[in-house]
Amino acid sequence: MQKSLAMIFGFALLFGAVFFDQANAQNMMNKQKMAEDFHSYANPQDVMVKHVDLDWTVSFEEKTIRGTATLDIVRTNKNAPLMLDTRELKIEKAETSADGKTFKATTFEIGAADKFLGSAMTVQLPPDASKVKITYASSPNASGLQWLSPAQTAGKKEPFMFSQAQAIHARSFIPLQDSPQVRVTYSARVRTPKNLLAVMSAGGNSQTSARNGDYRFSMTKAIPPYLIAIAVGDLKFKSLGKRTGVYTEPSMLEKSAFELADTEKMVIATEKIYGQYEWGRYDLLVLPPSFPFGGMENPMLTFATPTIIAGDKSLVALVAHELAHSWSGNLVTNATWRDFWLNEGTTTYIEYRIIEAIYGKPRREMESYLGKRSLLDELAQFEDKDEILHIDLKGRDPDDGMTDVAYEKGALFFRHLEETYGRERFDNFMRTYFKDHAFQSITTETFVEYLMKNLIDKKYPTTYASSIYPTPSRETINEWIYKPGLPKSAPEPKSDAFNQVAMQAKEYLNGTKTLSSIQTKAWTTQEWLHFLQTMPDGFGTEKMAELDKAFNLTKAGNSEIEFQWLLMSIRENYTAADARLEAFLIEIGRRKFVRPLFVELAKTPEGMKRACEIYAKSRPGYHPITQSSVDAIVKCN
Ligand SMILES: [Zn+2]
Repeated sequence: MQKSLAMIFGFALLFGAVFFDQANAQNMMNKQKMAEDFHSYANPQDVMVKHVDLDWTVSFEEKTIRGTATLDIVRTNKNAPLMLDTRELKIEKAETSADGKTFKATTFEIGAADKFLGSAMTVQLPPDASKVKITYASSPNASGLQWLSPAQTAGKKEPFMFSQAQAIHARSFIPLQDSPQVRVTYSARVRTPKNLLAVMSAGGNSQTSARNGDYRFSMTKAIPPYLIAIAVGDLKFKSLGKRTGVYTEPSMLEKSAFELADTEKMVIATEKIYGQYEWGRYDLLVLPPSFPFGGMENPMLTFATPTIIAGDKSLVALVAHELAHSWSGNLVTNATWRDFWLNEGTTTYIEYRIIEAIYGKPRREMESYLGKRSLLDELAQFEDKDEILHIDLKGRDPDDGMTDVAYEKGALFFRHLEETYGRERFDNFMRTYFKDHAFQSITTETFVEYLMKNLIDKKYPTTYASSIYPTPSRETINEWIYKPGLPKSAPEPKSDAFNQVAMQAKEYLNGTKTLSSIQTKAWTTQEWLHFLQTMPDGFGTEKMAELDKAFNLTKAGNSEIEFQWLLMSIRENYTAADARLEAFLIEIGRRKFVRPLFVELAKTPEGMKRACEIYAKSRPGYHPITQSSVDAIVKCN
């Protein structure tokens, strides 16, 4: 969608040096234009939140976070109230202050709840107010928090709580302007049960894991609200390198540290291409298995699923991905959720580059190949409107945009530019792009203008014969970003290793090769996935049993391979994997695995019956985000 949608406000002239000492913040606002965000009630063009100070008590008995959020505001329209986003918050009172010391009660109103957006909160502001303090509690059903019983953890002794704020779930535990273009710094004091450790996406995380139930944190760089994150549990820390380390439950610590050993190397490799890592430390938090995503790039502390702990570092592309977000997403952020592809396409492209730098080009090609295949599978099922990078999400749940289109089509677009202009020139462009937009939230239109000016319009010689791929022009860029499908200039990842795998699979299928003669010893997870994906639909339970007998796939122990195998088991009606399927779906809450398995089950009446039986047991352990995805699929009487 085009520029007409952007409501442009000129901030530059409206500011004196009146507010705070935030010369820096003011500088940012001078530059920032506000886009229309369909997923927020906030009015940053009138009143903008710049800092959030949290004072929280975490109660596992009540399943609530209770306390205050004190918001520093900058006002450009003195007559406007402060508009905030909330979802199911129990608001006790709102107060304002002119000096930050004395607070006086003010009136506020909570609007009707929208099923995606939650409720607007309107706070009346006296003329001199510069801070707003809200006393509130989150709901036990807060969409951005998950409360785990001890039984749902690895250690089984202590409860666990973690947040997941992307896309618009921060509002379910903080009243704030929950739009990615309203960047804030934050500070927090968090009180927990004395024997548990709290960690946040900020400075202040304890490496000694010393516990007293009272923790303080500070994020001094302005971040979009969806990056505010907290976890509380029986956590321990282990260092991985100078700037890197891992937090997880004690019983997971050694395994996690082994799997994530290359993290520091990845930071160094990424800095070499894209410039300095701007966040100080890069730690990871390995969560219990109900975490709905693979990872979440919370700054300074990536949250990760334990399903990447495979014992052989084969699934650490996820770390490369979350680390890449330290540049694309956290440093330069999508201004609204329709610009999500800017976060994820860039990040997926960089993920593959990090994989190449650490594990070599063949591995990059394998992972890119699998990524493109997964994209093509999705495109085969999507309507045109969902195949567009700059997707229209008005009136929809922003989570609807979290598809391979944003990730893999986006990554192919950036790879296309790399292949067209050559690596050196394109890397220079990206490095400068990050530097020029550091700590800003930008729209697709801003990106396209920058791309045109700094790369496309320069008319550099390309590495392609233009008869095969047209030299990028505004038209080709528009085709990639604003049109459905995959342009014919889309790159083709190629893997010799995969060709070998496919050849052997073919020989097995046509009976010229036995399974025992296939050379699988040195196969990576990616080669196994390719091998299994080469098996045609409907190839039968007999062959499934043969494969299982030869390779023990029902007990693979590697989450990606098991997922692929279980998906095939449902398709082929291979009942020997039934028990494992049920256990897998109860154990793991990662949406990437859970959703397609239920989709496959739901395709037949018998499958739906099984889905209902399993879901009755697995649903209580899922995160609200996974629950709402599966609720839409599994329909039981
Ligand atoms: Zn991502």
